[in-house]
Amino acid sequence: MQRKVILVLIDGLAWQVARDSLGYLLGLAEAGRASAYSLCAALPSLSRPLYECILTGAAPVDSGIVHNGVRRLSNQSSLFHLARAGGRRTAAAAYHWISELYNRSPYVARRDRHTNDDSLPIQHGMFYHCDDYPDEHLLLDADTLLRLHAPDFLLVHPMNVDDAGHRHGLDSAAYRNAARRFDALLSDYLSDWLAAGYQILVTSDHGMNADGTHGGSLPEEREVPLFVLGDGFSHHPSLTIDQTMLCGSMATLMGLAHDKPYCPELLA
Ligand SMILES: [Zn+2]
Repeated sequence: MQRKVILVLIDGLAWQVARDSLGYLLGLAEAGRASAYSLCAALPSLSRPLYECILTGAAPVDSGIVHNGVRRLSNQSSLFHLARAGGRRTAAAAYHWISELYNRSPYVARRDRHTNDDSLPIQHGMFYHCDDYPDEHLLLDADTLLRLHAPDFLLVHPMNVDDAGHRHGLDSAAYRNAARRFDALLSDYLSDWLAAGYQILVTSDHGMNADGTHGGSLPEEREVPLFVLGDGFSHHPSLTIDQTMLCGSMATLMGLAHDKPYCPELLA
């Protein structure tokens, strides 16, 4: 079945804060309209390695994207590549490292910030490069991409939660409030996106520690949320899923040919 998918990748959101703070998503789960799980991020618990893990299914030790300074195109087949091979449309409102992994590296803001090129893996992109780029604007970017291009796969990637965590640490009002703010902002869009026929996943690359960093194996660095919304999911009350299975699971959901690991129990 050729479903359309939106992946909301909240940068740097620890499960322990997600499970307490994302009131709208938790309310949907309580009402049986979403399912909430936690999953264990791959190591090292760093952004660029885990963007690659989520979008290709390859753990950092296999992809070679082992730290944030590895600034080159991915040599894996990403969900964007799989979607294009299947003749489907792709878009992303995301941090510029996503453009560097899958479209062009290095990122050149004047060329790449607004991308519309059918020959690229991410055909339509609105990329940003300031960590305090407002989540509110990012969501508007994503919604604009959706309405202009009706992509089959859309990546939505906000940075303000991670930014607050780096500035103030895990146990801070600023970090928790950034998560609450994003949940409220997202609540304006989710029902419209579901009504437009999308299956939606909301997850995070990694969490945050009390030192205002991440990278290691502490539970608060590795445990991240996975909310799923849509009739393409099983909505089993509990399941075990690895971060390396997200790419293959989304590809299966979209009806794309792939050889990635995936989680059959996640899907309807
Ligand atoms: Zn970070």
